[in-house]
Amino acid sequence: MTAAAPPADAIESLRTIGREFHGRGWSLGTSSNYSVVVSREPLELLVTVSGKDKSALGRDDFVRVDAGGEVCDGSGRRSSAETLLHCTIAELIPSVGAVLHTHSPWGTILSGAELPAGSPAGDLRVAGYEMLKGLEGITTHDTEELVPIFANTQDMPELAERIHRRFAGLDFAAAGRPPLHGFLIARHGLYTWGRDLAAARRHVEIFEFLFECVVRSRMLPGSGG
Ligand SMILES: [Zn+2]
Repeated sequence: MTAAAPPADAIESLRTIGREFHGRGWSLGTSSNYSVVVSREPLELLVTVSGKDKSALGRDDFVRVDAGGEVCDGSGRRSSAETLLHCTIAELIPSVGAVLHTHSPWGTILSGAELPAGSPAGDLRVAGYEMLKGLEGITTHDTEELVPIFANTQDMPELAERIHRRFAGLDFAAAGRPPLHGFLIARHGLYTWGRDLAAARRHVEIFEFLFECVVRSRMLPGSGG
């Protein structure tokens, strides 16, 4: 089985997302990267080219990569440095059709505050918010969402290995609520995904809202935060 979305449509949708996410402060200064799964067997993703301003992505600012993150479209262009993480997520979760990565202020602050110094990984727990219902499979505010946090690195194979270990044993194929909807890299940003680009975009919006709520609520007098 192949083809999640025609690349031409996917490219236009990703360009629109780039303009929006830059405008909302989530993808500034050439940060972030976005991908869609264009083939499952073999696994291939369309991913943003390295170092592009996300407010002005051109139609040629995307490359096709294989499961190992290697460019496979013969273009000779270089994909984003974090391409391997997109491939890892798409490989680990068979239902994934798109992966979006952002560098927002709230996610950056919160992930740094939540991860104990020197720790390779931790967890953020977000509970009780109505907006949690924007995450796939969640139907009530009366729940808790677990968001793993990984220590940052420039060694993508090493980080991909940590993600593999953290996701081991989680059942993303079961019906209903998925075990995770995204993760944070400390003082860096968010990775989230969805069965298609619209779902992944919604997850970014929901997570960014929740991260801002968590940080701002800790700033209230008497919050103890
Ligand atoms: Zn990044």
